[in-house]
Amino acid sequence: MMLEAKNVDFYYGNYHALKDINMQVEANTVTAFIGPSGCGKSTFLRLFNRMNDLIDNTRLTGECLIEGRNIYDKAVQVDQLRKEVGMVFQKPNPFPKSIFENVAYGLRVNGVTNGTVEETVERSLRQAALWDEVKDKLKKSAFELSGGQQQRLCIARALAISPKVLLMDEPASALDPISTAKVEDLIYELKKEYTIVIVTHNMQQATRVSDKTGFFMLGELVEYTDTKKMFLNPEKEATQNYITGRFG
Ligand code: ADP
Repeated sequence: MMLEAKNVDFYYGNYHALKDINMQVEANTVTAFIGPSGCGKSTFLRLFNRMNDLIDNTRLTGECLIEGRNIYDKAVQVDQLRKEVGMVFQKPNPFPKSIFENVAYGLRVNGVTNGTVEETVERSLRQAALWDEVKDKLKKSAFELSGGQQQRLCIARALAISPKVLLMDEPASALDPISTAKVEDLIYELKKEYTIVIVTHNMQQATRVSDKTGFFMLGELVEYTDTKKMFLNPEKEATQNYITGRFG
């Protein structure tokens, strides 16, 4: 088991954003989170690299585990955790640096030396299916790339530090259809090496890329099951209503 949530409740001030979430995610799978806007998908995703720690006046109870270890344990170093858990956001957010230095960034911060940096940058760009498009302009600014290329660059940057888990918060929702297809193909390829969790508002995307799907509503995990089953034969009426477009 790569990721696990046990009786997770989360509050923004008095607002009860996640209610008794229990979930297990196996290694080398893709899990999609779906549900109406504001139901807690991103909040739950962000618990796994402790991004919510940055928000004041929040409270978590229960446990979030990675490979059996509670990542909110006092002994856990957040820097170390974020090396194991990469994150890709909705809007591509390259740094104002060259293509090469964007991918090399995490390595440099961690004191990796030059020879390995070049190898790792190339490997990461290849894994992100971007190498062929950028190999002749690695020194150019990342901002010269298209939106879809920038997003794959951000994926390469996340992969360069060899995480175990990749969290993706609507990674394709700001992209055109061709770039979206590239990112989706990539997600499928990447699960050979990584465990991927993706928030998506696009149900077709969930069916295309994921092995399991979790349906959230009003802070609860209503249903969590194999993606095929979720979309063909869900257990809960609320899931059925949502996937058939009756609300959300
Ligand atoms: P989703 O990803 O499903 O759209 P979110 O996890 O972003 O939902 O949000 C869940 C709920 O928590 C929403 O009601 C949202 O308004 C609230 N929320 C999210 N982020 C914050 C924040 N930083 N401060 C206060 N409330 C927040």
